Amino acid sequence: MNAAKRSIATTDHNNNAGRKIAVIGGGLGGLTAALAFARQGAEVSVYEQAAALTEVGAGIQITPNGARALDALGLADALSAKGLRAQAVMPMDGLSGATIARFDLTAQVPAYRFFHRAALIGILADACVAAGVKVHLNSRVTDYRPDGGFDVAGRTVKPDLTIGADGVQSVLRGRLNGAAQPFFTGQVAWRAIIDQPDAPPEARIWMFPGRHIVTYPLSEGRLNIVAVQERDQWADEGWHHADDPAHLRSAFADCCDPLGAILAKVDTVGLWGLFRHPVALNWYQGTCAILGDAAHPTLPFLAQGANLAVEDAYQLARATDAAADLGAGLAAYQAARKGRVTRAINAANANARNYHLGGVRRIVAHGGLRLIGRAAPGA
Ligand code: FAD
Repeated sequence: MNAAKRSIATTDHNNNAGRKIAVIGGGLGGLTAALAFARQGAEVSVYEQAAALTEVGAGIQITPNGARALDALGLADALSAKGLRAQAVMPMDGLSGATIARFDLTAQVPAYRFFHRAALIGILADACVAAGVKVHLNSRVTDYRPDGGFDVAGRTVKPDLTIGADGVQSVLRGRLNGAAQPFFTGQVAWRAIIDQPDAPPEARIWMFPGRHIVTYPLSEGRLNIVAVQERDQWADEGWHHADDPAHLRSAFADCCDPLGAILAKVDTVGLWGLFRHPVALNWYQGTCAILGDAAHPTLPFLAQGANLAVEDAYQLARATDAAADLGAGLAAYQAARKGRVTRAINAANANARNYHLGGVRRIVAHGGLRLIGRAAPGA
């Protein structure tokens, strides 16, 4: 392996070299983990239930903390080529269109960027394949065994370390922690992408009483839209419920003209309920560990779910590389991550209130949005 590439994720100890690592789930967290372990010389296989490594059609914000881990894995050039550099985050009055505040992002290092999810997955997937990761598609893991093995595609696999990056419905999380008790937050969200070639490179949070909309541009002249409304009831957690765009427009019928023009362009929209999950108590056991949404699903009010998953993945690779004993490395991983993740999730939960008009005074009084700053994973 290229010595320069290898050195960026490895520690002085080199304990992951030659280890057999299985990653369950080829999302942003799983692929980052696969790449980090492969950079350290591990033999890595990813098992993904879907037929392709791709993502739902939506945007994602990669903030400096997540970018720092991705840069350290050698992806800085690809991120800069495919992402759109953010200039500012701006809370707006959705009723009048007035700008409430403008938080400048131009000094952020590494850059805060907007991506189409599929583009980000593509960057990671290409890097994984180039680093020798074996990707198994159409490979749903059906059973986890107490010895760390699992069943997939009619055979049993028993690696040195099994990483559950299998998302919000993680089976491995259940194995390590028992059944979780998520609860409906009383909020639903619509998600859409429209063509909007002239959108400025800013994340705008359009606030209303009991509602808000976040818009930000993507490459190729598109605009990503997430709209949140308070509601009493919702049946199912998941991202794939199609809705009539007229429902979105009617929920924001009182919006200002610029936002109305944006919503008028929406022709396809998904709707889903937002649920809160407790942070998992146990992130590892024996030769298994969980990361990302599998360990700590988060509400999308701080743009941190994927960024935290990326940080987890990087830290998991570093902590296990540094410890001669795998169990000690897994314990160090959990100890390094849990407090920080819990703080970020609490901040995202608080923003659920702050983003609705009653919370504007709180935001300005605290000097800005609670953006995640400079913490470097594994530093
Ligand atoms: P996932 O992305 O869910 O990946 C899990 C993978 O595992 C999937 O590919 C799945 O098919 C696979 N899988 C599941 N079970 C199995 C199995 N048994 N066998 C094999 N494969 C399996 N985060 C940010 O950082 N920035 C943002 O701007 C942002 N915006 C968001 C906006 C919205 C509206 C929402 C809802 C979330 C947002 N998030 C954001 C959160 C972010 O999308 C998630 O936290 C992140 O995608 C979690 O990554 P993951 O790899 O842990 O899980």
